[in-house]
Amino acid sequence: MLDPFGRSISYLRVSVTDRCDFRCVYCMAEDMTFLPKAQVLSLEELDRVCSAFVGLGVRKLRLTGGEPLVRRNIMSLVRNLGRHLTSGALDELTLTTNGSQLARYAGELHAAGVRRINVSLDTLDAAKFTAITRWGKLDQVMAGIDAAKAAGIKIKINAVALKDVNEAEFDSMIAWSGEQGHDLTIIEVMPMGEIGEQRIDQYLPLSMVRARLARRWTLEDIDYRTGGPARYVRVRETGGRLGFITPLTHNFCESCNRVRLTCTGTLYMCLGQEDAADLRAPLRASESDDKLVAAIHEAIQRKPRGHDFIIDRRHNRPAVSRHMSVTGG
Ligand code: SAM
Ligand code: SF4
Repeated sequence: MLDPFGRSISYLRVSVTDRCDFRCVYCMAEDMTFLPKAQVLSLEELDRVCSAFVGLGVRKLRLTGGEPLVRRNIMSLVRNLGRHLTSGALDELTLTTNGSQLARYAGELHAAGVRRINVSLDTLDAAKFTAITRWGKLDQVMAGIDAAKAAGIKIKINAVALKDVNEAEFDSMIAWSGEQGHDLTIIEVMPMGEIGEQRIDQYLPLSMVRARLARRWTLEDIDYRTGGPARYVRVRETGGRLGFITPLTHNFCESCNRVRLTCTGTLYMCLGQEDAADLRAPLRASESDDKLVAAIHEAIQRKPRGHDFIIDRRHNRPAVSRHMSVTGG
């Protein structure tokens, strides 16, 4: 699948639920209204859409959310999608998780073919962790991370940079990730959805974070790429990899290879734009995938050049109205 700018679309991210057991301050308001269950695709329907994308050349699938591991029976979807790894049609099946359910599922994930996951963790301080996630418990997430590591799954920690909240913690997170053998990626907060707080108060440009880290650590540029937007350095002192995702200070859209499906079957061709295509109607219109495949092709032809995220005093409104939990980050 080639988009109008010649980018090959080989990566599908699927938000399998918009629900979550945490309420991270930068992601959700505390009193979120979730989608009515009737609008949500069944696990069988999600499998059909994912498999259609695999048939069209998608090589990497990421399940996300909301929290993917709180969706009931989610492991049946993971196991079923694992067949595309076995057949060689898919290179990678992975997920992004808050880690709260990992202790329970790590073994099954590995058995289904999952070899790498992203775990979101913004601090190693238990009180701060609860302040950021509102409902989360650090111990539970740490136990999940340990279980995943023990099961043989490689872990990348994703931390969102939050002004005055965790900016002093990246040193300890770099040291801990290095010791544990986890990659670490720091992400700029993006202006998505009303969260009941001012984005400008959360926004911390990574150019500043990097400059500060460079005083303490030796950051060596490396070519390592995962097919995502992160730019990596090697931290000489720990030997670990450190990534920076900078949608605001450095736009990465020119190499975008991905599209995003919500749990209701809406396809977003760009994280930072409102345009979307409904795949649920063509999916449900017939048992054959012809209409679905045609709708996917039509949508890819509408993939925009890029997003227009800005956070400053004059642009203190969400760039898009939906929350990150809808399209899964
Ligand atoms: N619940 C899972 C988790 O937290 O990993 C998966 C979904 S979550 C929406 C995916 C990623 O998006 C997380 O790493 C989270 O920190 C990040 N995220 C959420 N809201 C964000 C925002 N406004 N700006 C930047 N990253 C955000
Ligand atoms: Fe839930 Fe992930 Fe959003 Fe936090 S970032 S509220 S864990 S979906």
